[in-house]
Amino acid sequence: MPATTMEQLVSLCKRRGFIFQNADIYGGFQGLYDFGPLGVELKNNLKNAWWRAMVYERDDVEGLDSAILTHRKVLHYSGHEDTFSDPMVDCKDCKCRMRADTLKDGKCTECGSTNLTEIRQFNLMFKTNVGPVVNEESYGYLRPETAQGIFINFKNVVDSTSRKVPFGIAQIGKSFRNEITPRNFIFRVREFEQMELEFFVKPGTDEEWHEKWKEARLKWWEEQGVPAEHIVAKPIPKEDLAHYSKATYDICYEFPHGLEELEGIADHTDYDLANHTKNQDEFKINAHVHDKNVDSTSKLALYDEEAKEWFIPFVIEPSAGVERGVLAVLTEAYTEEALENGTTRIVLKLKKHLAPIKVAVIPLKRNNEAIMNMAHKIKTDLLKLGIGRVALEDSGNIGKAYRRHDEVGTPICVTVDFDSIEQEPASVTIRDRDTMKQTRVNLADLPNYIREYFA
Ligand SMILES: [Zn+2]
Repeated sequence: MPATTMEQLVSLCKRRGFIFQNADIYGGFQGLYDFGPLGVELKNNLKNAWWRAMVYERDDVEGLDSAILTHRKVLHYSGHEDTFSDPMVDCKDCKCRMRADTLKDGKCTECGSTNLTEIRQFNLMFKTNVGPVVNEESYGYLRPETAQGIFINFKNVVDSTSRKVPFGIAQIGKSFRNEITPRNFIFRVREFEQMELEFFVKPGTDEEWHEKWKEARLKWWEEQGVPAEHIVAKPIPKEDLAHYSKATYDICYEFPHGLEELEGIADHTDYDLANHTKNQDEFKINAHVHDKNVDSTSKLALYDEEAKEWFIPFVIEPSAGVERGVLAVLTEAYTEEALENGTTRIVLKLKKHLAPIKVAVIPLKRNNEAIMNMAHKIKTDLLKLGIGRVALEDSGNIGKAYRRHDEVGTPICVTVDFDSIEQEPASVTIRDRDTMKQTRVNLADLPNYIREYFA
């Protein structure tokens, strides 16, 4: 099977309503995309699968949804105000601006000129005024990661749930980074969603948990249809690690544009909690503290009953991008199949729990009242199963309906025809997306059939 290209994905996503360029009626807003009728379903399904695996199926993780607007002190003491930046240069010839680490042999990526400015640091955070008064202190930020919302709520969650290490706090939500050069469709964008877990452990057990989380996350991606053979878990060399990290795996996937990061799994040691903790001198702190003058009112620590002392937990952070996940899942699912009759069909072989539409109910004739009534009733009945979206597809052309639902990954089509309303017992045709096999099922057995299929 030939590798899926970005052109194929972009074209399908626009044509079928998965993903649109933001503000395209005004020429497009660079680095921003909108999820259409089917994209929102796919994205929700992926996020739900993550939440289920991280929160519901475990006994050691709590969920959280913190604010997007972030207090400036949070991002000061976390180190983001000073260090969350990319090196940038300008080309003096073609005036384009690019990340210094993307230069090719020291040359402009657009025109090849070597007439470049000095490299300077460009902070990636979106700063915004908060409240009706504009002064030196009235600003905040759109969060550049969901993680800080978890760290500043550490004490709230511990106090309200009585959690002890090891335990985690999971969050899914929007983050914002003013990327110098957004590119590769939804891979590098300025507004995106993250699925982040901060897993707090006792110092000394962090390396073991780091490995465990790497294994758990690879298994999860496999369950989403992204197989291990298309993923590389790259350990980042010591000299390239971020200052807050002791060890990091970049989970890299073979995207259409190359092998790039899908998820990062980092051992942050006690860096994050220590940096937001008052009276840091009371603790044995492992990590470098960004600014010792922290004016937080709390110590983000736990009491060790055995050792009779307070300690700051270490953190393992598996952090995945939702858009990158969607792109990986689409890349794997996209298939062009040569059929026996010489034509080709495009089929999106999504895992069924990710499919935007679970079942399409197709009335053969839309101007036949009895057929339409039965189709409506089937839709209503199947919806009650709680499997997700069930769509009534009354375009009136069965061939086109099958093609459309192959392309958007609908696992099952249910067709209501004249036999359905004329013969006893009533029955319908079920068509399978992947095999295209059609089988006749009694209407009375349909809900059970569908329930078992999606179980
Ligand atoms: Zn240039």
